[in-house]
Formats: sequence, C-alpha cells, structure tokens
Amino acid sequence: MELAKRLNKLPPYLFVEINRKVAELEAKGRDIINFGIGDPDLPTPSHIIEKLCQAAHDPVNHRYPETGGLLELRQAIAEWYQRRFGVTLNPAKEVLPLVGSKEGIGHMALCFIEPGDLVLVPDPGYPPFSMGTILAGGETYLMPLKEENDFLPDFEAIPDDVADKAKLMWLNYPNNPTGGTADIDFFQEAVHFAQRHGLAVCHDAPYTEIAFDGYKPPSFLQIPEAKKIGVEFHSLSKTYHMTGWRIGMVVGNADMVNALFKVKSNLDSGIPQAIQYAAVEALRGPQDHIAEHNGIFQRRRDKLVKVLDEVGIDARIPRATFYIWARTPQGYASIDFAKKLLEEVGIAVTPGVGYGREGEGYIRFSLTISDDRLEEGVNRLLTWRRRRI
Ligand SMILES: *Cc1c(COP(=O)(O)O)cnc(C)c1O
Repeated sequence: MELAKRLNKLPPYLFVEINRKVAELEAKGRDIINFGIGDPDLPTPSHIIEKLCQAAHDPVNHRYPETGGLLELRQAIAEWYQRRFGVTLNPAKEVLPLVGSKEGIGHMALCFIEPGDLVLVPDPGYPPFSMGTILAGGETYLMPLKEENDFLPDFEAIPDDVADKAKLMWLNYPNNPTGGTADIDFFQEAVHFAQRHGLAVCHDAPYTEIAFDGYKPPSFLQIPEAKKIGVEFHSLSKTYHMTGWRIGMVVGNADMVNALFKVKSNLDSGIPQAIQYAAVEALRGPQDHIAEHNGIFQRRRDKLVKVLDEVGIDARIPRATFYIWARTPQGYASIDFAKKLLEEVGIAVTPGVGYGREGEGYIRFSLTISDDRLEEGVNRLLTWRRRRI
C-alpha cells in the first residue's frame, strides 16, 4: 500500500497530540484541568433541542438531505445576517449551509487551488486554513499577526509579487487564537488590498457573537464591495453552543458559494435535516442566552486574567472570543511551558506554536470549562506560584 505524499506534508493535528498526553496522565490517575480545547461547556439552549427532537421524529427527515440545505434554513440565515449586520443576502445564491464551517473551510481550497498556487494565511491561525491549502496541493504565504499590530496582518509588508501571485486570502476576526478583533476600517483595507491584487477573500467569523464589554464585532460583508470578492464563513457552533451538531454556513459572493456547492455536492449529502430545523429555530428563536453566556465567559475571563497577572503570566484582556492568549515567561518555548503546566500543575493549555511560528512565545487558555474547574485551575496556579517564591 502506498499513501499519497500529501499526507506527509500535514503536521500532526496539535489537539490530537495534547489530548493523547492528557489521556496518558489521566490514565495514571492525575486530575487534569483542560483549558486546551475551544468547545463550549454550556449546553445547547433547550428550545433548540426540543425542535431537534420533534424534527427527528418526522420520517421526512430520515431521508437524504440536499447538499444545498433547506430553503427555510437558507432564508433563516439571510434574515439573521440582515438583523445582526444589516447585510442583505439572496438565500438562493448567496447562502450555503455547511456540515460545520470547518468542512467548508477545508473544501474551499479545492475551488481555487491548483498545484503550486499560493494562499495568504494568518500566522498564528486556525489550522484548517493551511491544511486545506496543503491538501489541495497549494502553498501558504504566512501573514504574521503581531501583538504590536493588535494581531492584524500588515498588508503593506506583503511583497507585491506575492500578493499578485496569490489566489486566496484567509482572515479571521474575532480571532482564534489571539482574541484580536478587527474594525470596519480594517475590513475596508482588506477589500482594497484584495481588489488591487485580484485576490479572493475568505473571512472566517464564528466568534462575532462571543464579545464583551458592549462590543459588537462587525461582519466583513458590511463593506459594500466585499461581496464582489469574498465570502464569510460563520457557524452555529459557538453562538448557539452547537459544536456537536455540526452546522455552519458560508455566505457572500455567489460564484464562490456556487463553486463550493459544486465541490460539496460531489463529496457530501448535506446536513441531517433535523439538525437543519434545529438551526432554523436557533437563528429565529429567542436570543437571550447569548448575552447570558457572554456574561459567564466575561466573568471567567476576568478571573483568569487577574490570576495570570498575579502569577507573572502576561495576557491581554480580549474583547471577544473565549480565548486568553498569554505570553510564556521569559526563556520558555510555548511547548515547554505547556508541558511544565501540565506536569507540575495538572493544567492543559494549547502551545501557541501549534498555530504557527508566530504563535511561539504564547499559550492559549480556553474559557470553555465549568466555573468549578476554572476555580480549581486558578487555585492551582496560585499555589504553584507560592511554591516557586
Ligand atoms: C470553532 C471554529 C470554527 C468552526 O467550527 P465549526 O464547528 O466547524 O463550525 C471555525 N473557525 C475557527 C477559527 C474556529 O475557532
């Protein structure tokens, strides 16, 4: 048997490795507090689950769904974008539901990339941006996200020949892993840059609803010309705590949406319909849980950042996302410091280097663990600090 060489180009998925190490320690009886994975601990709101159960009982929904999703869902997505961002979308041509947005992000590369083609991706960045590119035979040009630039890429620093050669650019705000945010001026700049160099833009925006202190993150599509050159990926995963149900969407440029539909219609058979009805309920139903959940994440954020500061770990307070992107103490590589925390304190975090070279010198804490576990985690950090003094 001979596997394709492209598989060798994929680094091991970082979370798999961390999970293995955590499982190893747990098997030895250690109690590990896992700040590693960004997966909401709070349940999907119950009215959404009710709808899912109801729809699951209807035999119509036991059959193959359509790749393009139910019209009702595409309409609900368009209404949600109108309500939330003032962005008008044609549900027939500019909206496509996805089996979780990660699926669409990965497959998008197949729509654009031929062997050797170049893609601009943020570093640090969500791994599927690069992995999709590599699987399609393309190459990445990394755009560093530096703290001194508020974790925004510097378009001026990208050489003209690189920008001209590239076909696609990935952006992601509010940002995983840095917690950085982008305002509308930045999106305007991104659209101009893309137009100047003939780039298509994919903006990944699953965290627009996870925001604090009254901040409301914008959509890339609020820029009037954005729809001419780009799409936005969004998801029900983070907003409605539906990571396990696998449902997201891509919206925007009709040609790009249609290209992704073409690829997908040959690879998947859509999202289980009961889940599509649950998504309609999520998008159209009461939204109060969003503020309530953000209140919980905000309290956790404030508690953790305060304790990190007390133990000498420097972290910015993010306005959005449920991640704390913290600097490793002087002299520690991110992987070594993550190992140290795991072994000495029983706390799992994600080493920043797993998101790219520019992530070196950082670790990521996710606020998606219960208040009790968070409390236990911060207590361990404080005790550890006292022992070291
Ligand atoms: C969580 C996440 C997603 C999407 O998740 P799905 O569950 O696949 O919709 C996409 N991009 C980023 C940056 C994420 O953190």
